[in-house]
Amino acid sequence: MTYISCSIKTLPTELAEEAAAKAIELNPENAPSAQDRAALGPDLPLSAITARRWPKSGVRLSVSFLDNPGADLRARILSHMNAWGAWANVRFTETAGTGQVRIARKAGDGYWSYLGTDVLSIATNKPTMNLASFSMNTPESEFHRVVRHETGHTLGFPHEHRRKAIVDRIDREKAIVYFMRTQGWTRAEVIEQVLTPFDNSALIASAATDPTSIMCYGLPAEIMKDGIAVPGGPDINNLDATFAGQLYPGPVSPTSMWPNGKVYLFKGSQYVRYNVAADKVDAGYPLPIAGNWPGFPADFASGIDSGVLWTNGKAYYFRGNQYIRYDVVNDRVDAGYPRPIFNNWPGLWAGGIDAGVVWPNGKAYLFKGSQYVRYDIAADRVDPGYPKPIAGNWPGMPAAFAQGIDEIVVWPNGKAYAFKGSQYVRYDIAADRVDPGYPLPIDPHWPGLWSSGVGTR
Ligand SMILES: [Zn+2]
Repeated sequence: MTYISCSIKTLPTELAEEAAAKAIELNPENAPSAQDRAALGPDLPLSAITARRWPKSGVRLSVSFLDNPGADLRARILSHMNAWGAWANVRFTETAGTGQVRIARKAGDGYWSYLGTDVLSIATNKPTMNLASFSMNTPESEFHRVVRHETGHTLGFPHEHRRKAIVDRIDREKAIVYFMRTQGWTRAEVIEQVLTPFDNSALIASAATDPTSIMCYGLPAEIMKDGIAVPGGPDINNLDATFAGQLYPGPVSPTSMWPNGKVYLFKGSQYVRYNVAADKVDAGYPLPIAGNWPGFPADFASGIDSGVLWTNGKAYYFRGNQYIRYDVVNDRVDAGYPRPIFNNWPGLWAGGIDAGVVWPNGKAYLFKGSQYVRYDIAADRVDPGYPKPIAGNWPGMPAAFAQGIDEIVVWPNGKAYAFKGSQYVRYDIAADRVDPGYPLPIDPHWPGLWSSGVGTR
């Protein structure tokens, strides 16, 4: 398989130094450190070692299209650009006028974007991003792999495959031949785009090399010294999203959605991965917990009572009177778990919970039988006055649900969904009540989910 590779466009020399100075003015953290200068050599221009991130206060960019794609395609591209906004303070808005980001689809010109704040230095009649030949017929997976990747460049993220740990594995001459043949690049372009490492640099967001990052393109085994392909990232992963959130922090309301855009739901010894954007369970699920959740103790792998995605990059899984803490980015249970609930969750039932969720107000709601508590995340304890009965405090909750729920999740659409047996209700968070017309059966409203219910063991 030969991918169209991406290249990061750089400004012509006469504009580059001015643009680098502008980048540092917009976000002082873009300035190269003394260490960067030393590592990259004293002769490089400032522009070569200056990051191009937008201000830490967030990214608000307008987007226009240069070749009149249909409204359906424009909306689809925008939705994938805004996928970064799930955990980072990033929003792209289409404009009928001249956008700050200008997208072309020139055939044969490949996929490329300028890096971060460099887009401000491009003439307004010229594109800042090219998505060669993208159409409504382009597979959905390519929107994930390419549009989100190019948007990453627009956000100021360089290529992960140019980290030294990866570049050192590339056979230089084979790579030059390969990219000249498959991409039509010159020798100098291959050296610039693939073979020049930057590391320990302000240009790089994350601490560790991540060969499955969305910002890492696939490299074929035939150009690698060790003969092992670099798989590249097909989508924004948890590490990408978490670091985007650190570069452009809040305000992003907590939901049950992981940085990768998925919600995980459990039943007995199995789980499913629910794709929020596609509104269905991903293909290939359910899968067993055992073997797929590194570090889960055997009893937790046989079934949990509830899983709650917290706001600290961790998820908590409860079983009986114990719980474990899962690290989202490192994708494994933290050392030292399971622990007893008793003494570690002040005010919570020591015997366990049925369901729990973090609410956009920064409180967690945890349920057991016909009662619930409100947990103050900042104070790390149950608020005074709890537990309370569900009945009377969750307007519109049907009687059967007020007797106890199996699981509850918060969606990015401002709704929470509570499950009980084969039914669910939709709760409007802003209106603070169950929406009219509920409960409804899980089947057929949650494609791919167990029709008999979730969140039980
Ligand atoms: Zn790229």
